[in-house]
Amino acid sequence: MLEKMVKRFDPEEVIEEFEALTKEAKRVQIETLKKILKENGEAEYLKKCGLDGKSDPESYSSCVPLVTHKDLEPFIQQIADGAPHPILTGKPITIFTLSSGTTQGKRKFVPFNDELTETTMQIYRTSFAFRNREFPIGNGKALSFIYGSKQFKTKGGLLASTATSNVYRSEQFKKTMKEMLTPCCSPEEVIFGPDFHQSLYCHLLCGLIFHDEIQVISSTFAHSIVHSFRSFELVWEELCSDIKTGTLSTRITVPTIRTAMAKILKPNPELANKIHEKCLRLSNWFGLIEELFPNVKYIYGIMTGSMEPYLKKLRHYAGGIPLLSADYGSSEGWIGANVNPTRPPEMATFAVLPNIGYFEFIPLREIGAITQDHSELESPLVRAEPRPVGLTDVQVGEEYEVVVTNFAGLYRYRLGDVVKVVGFHNSTPELQFVCRRDLMPPINIDKNTEKDLQLSVEAAAKLLAAEKLEVVDFTSQVDLSSDPGHYVIFWEVSGKASDDVLQDCCNCLDSAFIDAGYVSSRKVRAIGPLELKILKRGTFQKILDHYVGLGSTLNQFKTPRCVGPVNHVVLQILCDNVVKSYISSAFD
Ligand code: AMP
Repeated sequence: MLEKMVKRFDPEEVIEEFEALTKEAKRVQIETLKKILKENGEAEYLKKCGLDGKSDPESYSSCVPLVTHKDLEPFIQQIADGAPHPILTGKPITIFTLSSGTTQGKRKFVPFNDELTETTMQIYRTSFAFRNREFPIGNGKALSFIYGSKQFKTKGGLLASTATSNVYRSEQFKKTMKEMLTPCCSPEEVIFGPDFHQSLYCHLLCGLIFHDEIQVISSTFAHSIVHSFRSFELVWEELCSDIKTGTLSTRITVPTIRTAMAKILKPNPELANKIHEKCLRLSNWFGLIEELFPNVKYIYGIMTGSMEPYLKKLRHYAGGIPLLSADYGSSEGWIGANVNPTRPPEMATFAVLPNIGYFEFIPLREIGAITQDHSELESPLVRAEPRPVGLTDVQVGEEYEVVVTNFAGLYRYRLGDVVKVVGFHNSTPELQFVCRRDLMPPINIDKNTEKDLQLSVEAAAKLLAAEKLEVVDFTSQVDLSSDPGHYVIFWEVSGKASDDVLQDCCNCLDSAFIDAGYVSSRKVRAIGPLELKILKRGTFQKILDHYVGLGSTLNQFKTPRCVGPVNHVVLQILCDNVVKSYISSAFD
């Protein structure tokens, strides 16, 4: 009865709402800012800014400074320590999000509240509604590689967990997944299990048990799907044996997971044999997902930015199943939905939802001018501020850094992401994710980005592909211990390549960077020859284990593409696992 009274989710209605919001993006932004400032007018931070009740965009940007996470740390610390008065928000913050820390090497505490869960659901529903028009799904299940991370308590007794875990724990999430006909096929005990290796194994097992009901395969970031099927290659026979006998492998030791799985796992020799035969028939696991899950309609997860390097492997596993790139957001809140699901993942764009936050955009050209003397990086509060533009004032073709004001105490917060405006959906911009800002610290006048690094690795990996080998994963380091400094690129390779091929790869990596500052610095030896270091197999698994051990979750894991000097543990893991090094002779 109650079920019937709950308003049914109607994708067309969601699209209508989205169209209405985006047609009036400017007005909606002004209202959203007003609402945020009204709700949080009593917060000490805003009072100090001297807004005096004003809530128009002009007063806001002239009174409230642009900040980075570092600027907010003292305020966040006071909240975490249990300060009784309102500091960043009107209503007290009771939960923190812990960012993955994989992009910058340091985990960040970010305030979280129910409004952020709500906006997450709005983004999920919006992109689902558009997806469902092109790729309709029936009643079924999703094989979702999702993991709840541990919850911590801060000194002041506030809970802290990863953003995704905060969302997965919420009732709204479960309700939304049901409405979207894609409830996760694994029980909660698996999602929230204390050991992600065991949870991953059981996700795969549940997926196989419910193989013909699986409509969607998903994870937050695509890396997790690739990682899961790489693991499948290693444990598939054990999975088949579990299904054949109806007995769970002894590798699963967590009692709650064993109990939950016992309710699902029944002896099914016929299914086990079918899976076994299919796996044997596959050539190098090509089309694995298509073979195992006959009714799967698409694979879904964030595939842009630092996830692009995994697309090749994902396509290999997917066979003919479409890859659909998910939305754009962060622990600090969501930004845009992918409302053009038919675009290939590399071309995915994100339409900003104008009511989920107040957004500003710093033209990258302006940041470039200021960072020449590095002043802007050091203290955005005291130096001349860059001038961001409003959501509806951005220009097509321009690149910007995103600035977020959300409902959970972040005001004019520089996210550190670079996006490009590629068009408009009604009056809201469609963004393409470009990269994280300032990923590779300069040695000289070089300005290489995460994207440049990715393209260079892609170019060099083609030489390996000719040997039927692939780069499993990669990262880099700017080594300033020698004079001049030089770039080090670390590769884990799927098999043994000859010295000649790897030397060629090293030269190719060096010469594939096209940034004029890098090329000219290399020519005059102001930057030393690039070094390629080959890692032992399994090194990136160790890095992942390290982050998960710190309380991060596989959901949000992004291989750090440039490891900074303070990231001692990861640097140590890398150094301990180097098997061979090559020095570029590209500019000799
Ligand atoms: P986290 O710190 O774990 O919350 O990760 C948030 C970061 O992930 C963002 O600031 C982006 O750098 C990246 N990210 C999130 N969504 C996307 C996307 N759709 N495409 C590319 N990168 C993304």
